[in-house]
Amino acid sequence: MKHIAIGKIFTSFFTTTEEMDGDGYDKRLGSFYTEFRALCKKHNIDFADSYMSLLGMEKYAIHSCDSCNKLMLNRDKNPTGFGEEAHNSELNWVVMDGGEHEGKLLCEDCLPSTHRWGQS
Ligand SMILES: [Zn+2]
Repeated sequence: MKHIAIGKIFTSFFTTTEEMDGDGYDKRLGSFYTEFRALCKKHNIDFADSYMSLLGMEKYAIHSCDSCNKLMLNRDKNPTGFGEEAHNSELNWVVMDGGEHEGKLLCEDCLPSTHRWGQS
Protein backbone atom coordinates (compact mmCIF):
# COMPACT_ATOMS: atom_id res chain seq x y z
CA MET A 1 0.00 0.00 0.00
CA LYS A 2 1.31 3.42 -0.93
CA HIS A 3 1.17 6.39 1.47
CA ILE A 4 2.19 10.01 1.44
CA ALA A 5 3.76 11.52 4.56
CA ILE A 6 2.88 15.20 4.88
CA GLY A 7 4.79 17.14 7.52
CA LYS A 8 5.18 20.62 8.88
CA ILE A 9 8.32 22.14 10.27
CA PHE A 10 8.02 25.16 12.55
CA THR A 11 10.89 27.62 12.83
CA SER A 12 11.50 30.96 14.48
CA PHE A 13 14.27 33.49 14.76
CA PHE A 14 14.72 36.90 16.29
CA THR A 15 15.01 39.86 13.96
CA THR A 16 14.91 43.62 14.27
CA THR A 17 13.29 46.47 12.39
CA GLU A 18 16.79 47.47 11.27
CA GLU A 19 17.49 44.02 9.82
CA MET A 20 14.10 44.00 8.07
CA ASP A 21 14.57 47.53 6.68
CA GLY A 22 17.96 46.57 5.27
CA ASP A 23 18.70 43.47 3.23
CA GLY A 24 19.80 41.27 6.16
CA TYR A 25 16.37 39.69 6.67
CA ASP A 26 15.93 38.74 3.01
CA LYS A 27 19.51 37.49 2.76
CA ARG A 28 19.14 35.34 5.86
CA LEU A 29 15.86 33.79 4.67
CA GLY A 30 17.16 33.33 1.14
CA SER A 31 20.23 31.51 2.41
CA PHE A 32 18.14 29.35 4.74
CA TYR A 33 15.68 28.31 2.02
CA THR A 34 18.46 27.56 -0.45
CA GLU A 35 20.10 25.18 2.04
CA PHE A 36 16.75 23.75 3.21
CA ARG A 37 15.65 22.95 -0.35
CA ALA A 38 19.01 21.24 -0.97
CA LEU A 39 18.57 19.20 2.22
CA CYS A 40 15.04 18.19 1.20
CA LYS A 41 16.27 17.17 -2.26
CA LYS A 42 19.09 15.10 -0.72
CA HIS A 43 16.50 13.10 1.25
CA ASN A 44 13.99 12.92 -1.64
CA ILE A 45 11.47 15.12 0.22
CA ASP A 46 9.42 17.63 -1.74
CA PHE A 47 9.44 21.14 -0.33
CA ALA A 48 5.85 22.33 -0.80
CA ASP A 49 5.50 25.81 0.65
CA SER A 50 6.33 28.11 3.54
CA TYR A 51 5.37 31.44 5.02
CA MET A 52 6.55 33.69 7.83
CA SER A 53 4.49 35.48 10.46
CA LEU A 54 6.07 38.60 11.94
CA LEU A 55 4.93 39.31 15.49
CA GLY A 56 5.97 42.26 17.63
CA MET A 57 7.54 40.84 20.79
CA GLU A 58 6.54 43.80 22.96
CA LYS A 59 3.04 43.99 21.48
CA TYR A 60 2.25 40.38 22.37
CA ALA A 61 4.49 40.12 25.47
CA ILE A 62 6.60 37.35 23.88
CA HIS A 63 9.64 36.28 25.92
CA SER A 64 11.96 33.33 26.31
CA CYS A 65 11.14 31.16 29.31
CA ASP A 66 13.60 31.88 32.13
CA SER A 67 13.86 28.14 32.82
CA CYS A 68 13.87 26.25 29.48
CA ASN A 69 14.30 29.12 26.98
CA LYS A 70 11.23 28.18 24.89
CA LEU A 71 9.28 31.09 23.44
CA MET A 72 6.25 32.01 25.50
CA LEU A 73 3.45 34.56 25.71
CA ASN A 74 3.25 36.23 29.08
CA ARG A 75 -0.47 35.72 29.48
CA ASP A 76 -0.41 37.65 32.76
CA LYS A 77 0.47 40.74 30.67
CA ASN A 78 -1.47 39.67 27.55
CA PRO A 79 -4.50 37.62 28.66
CA THR A 80 -6.06 37.59 25.16
CA GLY A 81 -3.03 35.95 23.58
CA PHE A 82 -2.63 36.37 19.84
CA GLY A 83 -6.36 36.91 19.33
CA GLU A 84 -7.72 36.99 15.82
CA GLU A 85 -4.92 39.24 14.54
CA ALA A 86 -2.49 36.38 14.21
CA HIS A 87 -4.55 34.47 11.61
CA ASN A 88 -2.56 31.38 12.48
CA SER A 89 -3.96 28.82 14.87
CA GLU A 90 -0.66 26.92 14.82
CA LEU A 91 1.38 29.60 16.59
CA ASN A 92 1.08 27.63 19.82
CA TRP A 93 3.48 25.07 18.31
CA VAL A 94 6.17 27.74 18.49
CA VAL A 95 5.07 30.15 21.21
CA MET A 96 3.62 28.57 24.34
CA ASP A 97 1.44 30.16 26.97
CA GLY A 98 3.17 31.27 30.12
CA GLY A 99 3.16 33.72 32.96
CA GLU A 100 5.01 35.15 35.91
CA HIS A 101 5.91 33.14 39.00
CA GLU A 102 8.19 34.25 41.84
CA GLY A 103 9.81 36.95 39.70
CA LYS A 104 10.46 34.66 36.72
CA LEU A 105 8.81 34.43 33.31
CA LEU A 106 7.95 30.76 32.82
CA CYS A 107 6.28 28.83 30.01
CA GLU A 108 3.27 26.63 30.70
CA ASP A 109 5.52 23.56 31.04
CA CYS A 110 7.74 25.21 33.66
CA LEU A 111 5.01 26.96 35.65
CA PRO A 112 3.60 25.05 38.61
CA SER A 113 0.32 23.37 37.73
CA THR A 114 -1.41 25.56 40.32
CA HIS A 115 -0.61 28.70 38.29
CA ARG A 116 -3.41 29.99 36.07
CA TRP A 117 -1.35 29.36 32.91
CA GLY A 118 0.51 26.27 34.12
CA GLN A 119 -0.33 22.95 32.49
CA SER A 120 -2.31 20.70 34.73
ZN1 LIG B 1 9.87 26.71 30.20
